[in-house]
Amino acid sequence: MVSFLQDEYDIIVVGAGPAGLTSALYTGRSGRRCIVFEKFAVGGQLPLIDVIENYPGFKRISGSELAQRLEEQVREYDVQIRIEEVLKIVDKGERKIVSTSNGDYVGKAVIIATGTKPKQLNVPGEKEFYGKGVSYCALCDGYFFRNKVVAVVGGGDSAVKEAVYLSNLAKKVYIIHRRDKFRAEKEIQKKAFATENIEILWSTVLTSIYGDNFVKGIVLKSLKDNREYSLPVDGVFVYIGSTPSTEIFGGVKNEDGFIVVDGSMMTSIPGIFAAGDCIVQCKERAWGQISVCVGDGAKAAIAADEYVSKISP
Ligand code: NAP
Repeated sequence: MVSFLQDEYDIIVVGAGPAGLTSALYTGRSGRRCIVFEKFAVGGQLPLIDVIENYPGFKRISGSELAQRLEEQVREYDVQIRIEEVLKIVDKGERKIVSTSNGDYVGKAVIIATGTKPKQLNVPGEKEFYGKGVSYCALCDGYFFRNKVVAVVGGGDSAVKEAVYLSNLAKKVYIIHRRDKFRAEKEIQKKAFATENIEILWSTVLTSIYGDNFVKGIVLKSLKDNREYSLPVDGVFVYIGSTPSTEIFGGVKNEDGFIVVDGSMMTSIPGIFAAGDCIVQCKERAWGQISVCVGDGAKAAIAADEYVSKISP
């Protein structure tokens, strides 16, 4: 039931990361009435990225600069961007009701671009010391670990890249990885291998985090000989992948919660599209690539525009 009908839009975009902002840019330029809702900050996870070196057209650009440029470009058109958390989306056929913390909005089409959130290790101490030495964001919290010793868990692009970032602040950085090979890009790996104050603990898992008011150390287990030992550290940065933020969507998702879309980015519900890191298409994900999210966002906007032109005004 609609509690407070605020306004009707052609296209409602949920999420203001690279995918959502690109959808809004295309929608705004096509003259459709568009509103974008974002829970935290415009740019999504972009402002949390120190430097981006693989976004076409820019040899190097900071995440916050790219976010700012994208937002400025979207604001050239008649698109509203609001910081309001979307709580649910209800399908009413040719109209969708998007409920936020502020009320209900009606859209002819919706594009969900809500991205992902960091996965947790689920080991003792992780929750207890969150914000007291345990972090999921090196760019946000790295500064507090100047000249200290930190551990980074994971072996993907995020873990290895953020370990290199932290090595400029911390005295020593341990990378704890469960296998004997990284999955990170070769270029990113090269930087980590060449950094003197990074030590890699291969085939090792973190089993618990201990401390008093703040993290004092971690317990590690070598998977080669099952030896358990503690390592004193001041901070732990967890970069072991991410899970999709798709709780607001009631249609078809895969077993990991990613929204399943077809070739035109439409979900199982006609008129609801999805783009970016929160989707799976032909069993493929966006793989955390900004350029892929941007492409998906454009495709979703074009498809949503076509859909809106076919339904009742
Ligand atoms: P990811 O590629 O999924 O890597 C996760 C890492 O964490 C893997 O090394 C994995 O180990 C490890 N891991 C997973 N669960 C674990 C657990 N329970 N305990 C210990 N280790 C665990 O995630 P990501 O690094 O966040 O990257 C996500 C996507 O964004 C990727 O597609 C990546 O390419 C992209 N990205 C790109 C850049 C860039 O600059 N190009 C930067 C950041 C992210 P295994 O290797 O053994 O599976």
